Amino acid sequence: MSRPVLLIAGGSRGIGAACARLAGERGYDVAVNYKTNANAAAGVVDAVKAAGGQAVAIAGDVAVEADIIRIFDEAAAALGPVTHFVHCAGIIGDASRLDEASAQTIRAVLDINTVGALLCLRESVRRLSTKNGGKGGAVVMLSSMAATIGGGGECVWYAAAKAGVDAMVVGASREVAKEGVRINAVSPGVIDTDIQPPGRVERLTPLLPMGRVGQADEVAEAVLFLLSDAASYINGANLRVSGAR
Ligand code: NAP
Repeated sequence: MSRPVLLIAGGSRGIGAACARLAGERGYDVAVNYKTNANAAAGVVDAVKAAGGQAVAIAGDVAVEADIIRIFDEAAAALGPVTHFVHCAGIIGDASRLDEASAQTIRAVLDINTVGALLCLRESVRRLSTKNGGKGGAVVMLSSMAATIGGGGECVWYAAAKAGVDAMVVGASREVAKEGVRINAVSPGVIDTDIQPPGRVERLTPLLPMGRVGQADEVAEAVLFLLSDAASYINGANLRVSGAR
């Protein structure tokens, strides 16, 4: 039987890199998309290969439609048809109140976190849906607890962008539920990755219900579960990985 092929948008660092490594251990071949950090992506590719999988790094900006289409094409050319997709690429923008934020920051965050996510989701469905000649598959979109708690004082635009992800997962999963494609979201709380501004992890840790932040590996476990056949009747769901936040 052929191995599943997982494409990760934003797989070079943080949660995406943890997903790629765990997928390699679980028998997937993995295409690791990144924007600028070729060294980090190469390290993730090496880790997947060391676990026995095939892997490839693919540069591209998943806020740009032409790049998204090329990334899916290159992943399929290198590893075979994509069967699973994870959208991890994301940015927050400089922290501030909304009345202090620039339009540039707001647009940049929405461009990648919402418009880019929609275009990636569209491309996944075009390739996976049995209606479009695909063989079905599973998609996980990274949302955030910010969509629920609002990001006040730090990143209201980011929270709004992730609320869009929540909505697209509900709607798209219903559109393609009879076409062999499951689409779910994962909403992390505070996870210790490069996305965190300096000092934020230390500042928030004592305020968190579990008294600690989460690790990227803990989010990757949830993502890999939702991708797997063990989650065969989980569709349109949004799984919080937030330590009760
Ligand atoms: P991270 O450590 O900053 O990693 C971001 C990844 O996205 C990197 O691989 C980066 O590639 C890639 N990326 C950024 N912009 C891109 C673009 N335009 N095109 C392609 N790739 C791009 O972030 P993270 O903490 O793992 O976050 C992953 C996802 O989880 C994001 O959607 C984030 O919003 C969400 N999330 C994170 C947390 C948290 O506390 N960490 C909480 C809730 C939700 P390069 O290496 O090339 O820069």
